[in-house]
Amino acid sequence: MTDFAPLIREANLVNGDWIAADSGRTLDVTDPATGSVIARVPLSGTVETRRAIDAASDAFPAWAAMPLGQRVALMRRLHQLILDNQEGLAALLTAEQGKPLVEARAEVGSSAAYVLWFAEEARRADGAVIPSPVAGRKMITTRHPVGVVAAITPWNFPSSMLARKLGPALAAGCTVVVKPASATPLSGLVWGYLAELAGFPKGVVNVVTGSAREIGAEITANKKVRKITFTGSTEIGKELLRAAAGTVKRMSMELGGNAPFIVFDDADLDAAVNGAIIAKFRNAGQTCICTNRLYVQSGIHDRFMARFAERVAALNVAPGNEPGAEQGPMIDSAALTKMEEFVADALAKGASLVTGGARHSRGGLFYQPTILTNAGPDMRFTTEEIFGPVAPVYRFDTEDEAIAAANATDYGLAAYAYTQSLSRMFRLQDRLEYGLIGINEVLIVSPEAPFGGLKESGLGKEGSWQGIDDYLETKYTCIGGL
Ligand code: NAP
Repeated sequence: MTDFAPLIREANLVNGDWIAADSGRTLDVTDPATGSVIARVPLSGTVETRRAIDAASDAFPAWAAMPLGQRVALMRRLHQLILDNQEGLAALLTAEQGKPLVEARAEVGSSAAYVLWFAEEARRADGAVIPSPVAGRKMITTRHPVGVVAAITPWNFPSSMLARKLGPALAAGCTVVVKPASATPLSGLVWGYLAELAGFPKGVVNVVTGSAREIGAEITANKKVRKITFTGSTEIGKELLRAAAGTVKRMSMELGGNAPFIVFDDADLDAAVNGAIIAKFRNAGQTCICTNRLYVQSGIHDRFMARFAERVAALNVAPGNEPGAEQGPMIDSAALTKMEEFVADALAKGASLVTGGARHSRGGLFYQPTILTNAGPDMRFTTEEIFGPVAPVYRFDTEDEAIAAANATDYGLAAYAYTQSLSRMFRLQDRLEYGLIGINEVLIVSPEAPFGGLKESGLGKEGSWQGIDDYLETKYTCIGGL
């Protein structure tokens, strides 16, 4: 495996300097597959965060004024550096997060793609000349970077979730303070190192690790921060929305999900089983757009279950850096305990275990890929985000019933369906209350497409031409007396 040690940064990046926490205290970063400590990063808090915000604020005017061509050239250099270091970055990601190396490599590739996409989108961030309703006036709109952006990211996609924030923020001319998740800070800190290598001016990218409470409190209260972009749980997203109300910041929220995966009688069975495996077990089920609930129509139910169970029981559970690994460890022991609780709750309420249902014989943080049938609406995972390798299967009879069940949640991030009926595809597109809909396809994320949830799954879009909008203010100017 590629050596990732040269990419490890055990300090915070503030105003171009790599610094420790004032207290000298650190956080251990562990490999979830082995439990061993791979690095120690600063346990920073209020003071360090304020310093990083000041640095970003001081760097903003010059960065925003930099000619677009130069900014785009820096973004392109960053894109190339990510690709040049793809193997090392993937190995680092697997080491701290646990996902199979093949998935880590894909995530890093996706990060690079987002940076390039937004470098190109910046060149199209134009304004308008509005036809004036009266004589002698010119009505013009222009677009401007919002200012200092604070980006808070989760541990499950610590590289690509940041790419979707840093990419549009930098391209738009904003400066950034990044707070990566404490479980996976290295994949966040390395962005600081790569930005430095690419030649971004000091203070444009700052990265602070440590106390979520202290860093979050400073970010939300500080008037110099004009926008917060957050990816994480709905619970923390709501806290941030409340806390930031006092300074009326722009807020982008990519929050939790509870994705339904609907298999209709007329589905291509092989395609549905393949899709179900990927959409459920990718990253050990720790993906915001992961399938939470599988709804399978009565006519195909038994055939689907037979094949799905056979494939799931054969999944190779192993450390992410082992060749052929398909499911790595859970992120921490709380996640493992949660799987046990979901399974116990479902069994007590009448579900039947098809495969798995316990900790894996590999020990540590490994959990068996699990399927339960006869799932019902009263079971906890019907309304709660599972975020792990447990697949509950619900049987249904009619399309109306499946759509109603699919929509019966406060979340609205991703939904999947397998059917050969074109008219049904359009009905699903209309009626499923989700921001992302995959029909006969589960790998639906790409920089060209808008990513974002409805309902309590979030606010705003990342990716697509819409992804840069949240980082730009529109000014309207009316010139009269012409
Ligand atoms: P989380 O607990 O909400 O944490 C996310 C980030 O917020 C981490 O950096 C965390 O820091 C920080 N944080 C926690 N409390 C905070 C506070 N009071 N103020 C400021 N920041 C705070 O979520 P997670 O467990 O890392 O990630 C899993 C969740 O993210 C799931 O719900 C998943 O669905 C969601 N997610 C959504 C998307 C999407 O695009 N919609 C993508 C990926 C994940 P610490 O790590 O230091 O606690």
